[in-house]
Amino acid sequence: MIIVPEREIGALMGRKESYQAVERVFAAMAAGDAYNFPVVREAIGHADALYGFKGGFDRAGMTLGLKAGGYWPNNLEAHGLINHQSTVFLFEPDTGRARAVVGGNLLTALRTAAASSVSINHLARKDAKVIGMVGAGHQATFQLRAALEQRGFGKVIGWNLHREMLPNIEKVATEAGLPFEAVDLPGMVEADVIITITSSFEPSLMSEHVSDGTHIACMGTDTIGKQEVATDLIARASVFTDEVAQAVTLGESQHAVAAGLKSEADIRQIGEVINGTHPGRASDNEVTLFDGTGVGLQDLAVASAVVDLAVQQGIAIEVDF
Ligand code: NAD
Repeated sequence: MIIVPEREIGALMGRKESYQAVERVFAAMAAGDAYNFPVVREAIGHADALYGFKGGFDRAGMTLGLKAGGYWPNNLEAHGLINHQSTVFLFEPDTGRARAVVGGNLLTALRTAAASSVSINHLARKDAKVIGMVGAGHQATFQLRAALEQRGFGKVIGWNLHREMLPNIEKVATEAGLPFEAVDLPGMVEADVIITITSSFEPSLMSEHVSDGTHIACMGTDTIGKQEVATDLIARASVFTDEVAQAVTLGESQHAVAAGLKSEADIRQIGEVINGTHPGRASDNEVTLFDGTGVGLQDLAVASAVVDLAVQQGIAIEVDF
């Protein structure tokens, strides 16, 4: 069995490899070659922790396994550790033997940023120039860095409820040589692409904040009750997702579907666009929206790629197990 510790991931796995792994597995899901298992998420009644498993099997990539982990809200203060903790376990599909244990923390950020990047590449207008960020926390910096590689953006605008966090994303824009402007939410009308990545339970982005032709990647809502954008914006948009079953239950689409403003049948898998079985954006005026709920197969895809890279570079730790 192979171990790839968390500390090695940063040097092994880049945005390009993450993008390729996630795009490939989204395609496999839409082709019916890969599926996610039901998600388990439990409040364990200790350390205020939420803990769970996300697993799946990708027959095309021959990847079987699960990500185990969750959220320990007191980690930083009490233990000096980050609050989100996860580990990926991979198994040999032919035998069920354990193949690898891989640190999952950085991989989660890379695979989540890769998902919105895949959506921007396949759904945003080719001439998109202004990218708008709603959110400026830990994930937002990864999201922006990856998104900037998908189009010839010339400007970054950003809004965050807690304004003191905006320098996080301003720094990414500056590193990329782009001007950054802090805006109020109505200022988002200037954006051609918008990423929402907050932990909000109330909508921030309203339909009137979004111009025709914009692509929106909603990445923060991954739990029942969370919400980042208004339901009438979901109703107005052509909605794509990683997995329809998750989008309508715990993704950004959950509220619009519950209100009867969008039906499950209206929501398409992004993998269909990747595979060419759905045309994607229909016109330059259409608002497209990617509901990125986060599926276990994304974690397995990037973890499997990391294992291959670690073996190639001779830094995989092999144990007799
Ligand atoms: P973080 O704690 O670092 O940042 C939270 C962000 O949400 C900040 O920008 C904060 O200002 C903002 N925020 C908090 N309350 C808000 C409110 N009421 N209204 C508007 N904004 C508010 O968190 P993070 O690690 O950046 O994660 C952000 C979100 O992304 C979380 O909800 C997390 O669960 C989700 N997430 C999703 C996926 C996925 O695959 N879709 C993967 C990882 C994380």
